[in-house]
Amino acid sequence: MKQPLAILGSTGSIGEQTLDIVRENPDRFEARILTANRQWERLAAQARAFDADTVVIADERYYAPLRDALADTDTKVYAGDDAVAQVAGGGDTTTVVNALVGYAGLAPSVAALRAGKKLALANKESLVVGGAHVMALAAEKRAPILPIDSEHSAIFQCLAGERAPVRRLIVTCSGGALRDVPMERLARVTVDEALRHPQWSMGAKITIDSSTLVNKGFEVIEAHWLFGTPAEKIDVVLHPQSIVHSMVEFEDGAIKAQLGTPDMRMPISLALMYPDRAIRPQERFDFLAHPQLTFAEVDRVKYPALDIAYDCLRRGGTAACTMNGANEVAVAAFLARRCAWTDIVRAIEYALDRAAFIATPSLDDYAASDAEARRLAEAYLNGNR
Ligand code: MG
Repeated sequence: MKQPLAILGSTGSIGEQTLDIVRENPDRFEARILTANRQWERLAAQARAFDADTVVIADERYYAPLRDALADTDTKVYAGDDAVAQVAGGGDTTTVVNALVGYAGLAPSVAALRAGKKLALANKESLVVGGAHVMALAAEKRAPILPIDSEHSAIFQCLAGERAPVRRLIVTCSGGALRDVPMERLARVTVDEALRHPQWSMGAKITIDSSTLVNKGFEVIEAHWLFGTPAEKIDVVLHPQSIVHSMVEFEDGAIKAQLGTPDMRMPISLALMYPDRAIRPQERFDFLAHPQLTFAEVDRVKYPALDIAYDCLRRGGTAACTMNGANEVAVAAFLARRCAWTDIVRAIEYALDRAAFIATPSLDDYAASDAEARRLAEAYLNGNR
């Protein structure tokens, strides 16, 4: 029997690579539901290529052209953020791949879990913002969450078959595009520089998040929720080659690591096929071609975002939601060349200093906290301080 998939964010980097896995395994998967934010032409082409039942375009302005482009097919066409969440929780799919960017991924994750579906999660913000809520819901519905984040997929693999408590999780970090840029030049880095990631080819937002290490901070929070590990047992180590995707140390001193070339189709295929593994034609890792794997400490003065994320994790409540909302606004402003790269972390700090804090938030509280963080970040960026 084929696994019927809903792929949220199918025109993005993770979405396209998920469709590669579907294409490579036509007898295992079918892409029933596809959603995109604005790229309606690409979405229409995917719907035809994969004979999708349903497509959703989140930005309602593109509903009419998408509907017209698919008028001669049986594909149902919807529009709007609510429709994305509805298709995540509805239909006859068993697995939802959430490859949305940012806060927008939370409601569809909740909808998928409420319906008891398996959630293959690339949208780490679902856990950063609402981890307590999301994990409780997954436990209540016995709905599995499989990580599509290379570090968390690595930790997941290291933990498979283990019952003993862990001493620490060691999350590896490439250092991002600005790893070798001296600190005094950071205020002047251009968008192009920050988008030039040395190892991973990813969407723009996550590439900027990697350059600030906001992404690594979010991954610490994500690891906490996925594996139930407290902040003080999660370490981050710089590993410029991005070959060791992360590690787990146990109480007897044993350390397990998962290695491979940087290719997101590995964690994607594992999330879809676990406990099986894909047979993939990709390049194999060659130890002799990479005789040196190096590790170093992260520069926490150059990258304050990492400690801010740890602090948000320790505070709990809506703190990480505030960090995320401010970051989304600031990254968009940086990409639009409205602010300096260093303003991203400053906008986050500005919002965290002023936002209301709710210790045990409801889903509505997250929405209010996200909106407040966005307002505060805008105020900082507009100079209304
Ligand atoms: Mg990652």
